[in-house]
Amino acid sequence: MSRAAFSKRFPDDAACAKHLYEKRWPNGFVCPKCQETKAWTLDSKLFTYECATCSRQTSVTAGTIFHRSKLSLLTWFLAIYAIASHSNGISALQLQAQLGLGSYKTAWLMLQKLRRAMVDPDRSLLEDLVEVDESDIPYRTKNDPIAGGQGRSAVGKLHFIGAIEISPEGHPRRIRLAPLQDFSAPNIGTFVTSAVTTGATVLSDGFPAYRSLKGYNHKPKVVGKMAAHIVLPWIHRVFANFKRWALGTYHGVRKPHLRRYLDEFVFRWNRRRHMKSSFDMLLDIASHLPHAGYSEFVDQSV
Ligand SMILES: [Zn+2]
Repeated sequence: MSRAAFSKRFPDDAACAKHLYEKRWPNGFVCPKCQETKAWTLDSKLFTYECATCSRQTSVTAGTIFHRSKLSLLTWFLAIYAIASHSNGISALQLQAQLGLGSYKTAWLMLQKLRRAMVDPDRSLLEDLVEVDESDIPYRTKNDPIAGGQGRSAVGKLHFIGAIEISPEGHPRRIRLAPLQDFSAPNIGTFVTSAVTTGATVLSDGFPAYRSLKGYNHKPKVVGKMAAHIVLPWIHRVFANFKRWALGTYHGVRKPHLRRYLDEFVFRWNRRRHMKSSFDMLLDIASHLPHAGYSEFVDQSV
């Protein structure tokens, strides 16, 4: 969608509110309390309906991430547009400049809230053939650009785990990534269960934690001392891309926010061939997610 097409579709707050109204009540207003359908619009509160039967007031933004925000609906829709149209992502500083926002914190919080909308609650599990492996990434602290030990040391590094679905023709399809507290069998098992459908074939590097997986056709690909990037080429390509992207777009990840970065990368990767649908997808999920406050974004460590 071009910027001109966006402006035509959403010229003002009222057009954005109308969109939310139609998404929420495709067949006309229904009171969430008494289910009656007759309502008045309020002059004193924007985009709020008062039930003619029980007087319950319902905002069109209730039950969406836009609820209780001081920012206008149009600003939110513009932010979604900016995120969806930058294929590599956008930093809080860029978003602040692009939307003319008063403070960096406002832009940062908007981005955090919108990253929540990058996880589709209705997404299906990976199937067929799935490569799974773990990795880690050095994290950034406030004072030091990159903190992290070298080599195998886990000091200053964040663990994460990933899975990629491979088509029967050998092409990469969808991915999942998640933070990992440690490389224990229960934690690895929890991730595989949450990401991969039972009965799928799981390819791993033969790490002992994978042996206890149940319900999967597990194929450890231990080939002597061959490096993991050779036996599991696709998931290692994903890891390398994620690290390059996190460094390039965000100058490294911050410890409390790893999950959000992983979520955003998964969102972009899984839509890499149809980015055009990203705007509607993000808007749709944002319109169905309950609002979350600042405190929920300050520390998201696992
Ligand atoms: Zn009512």
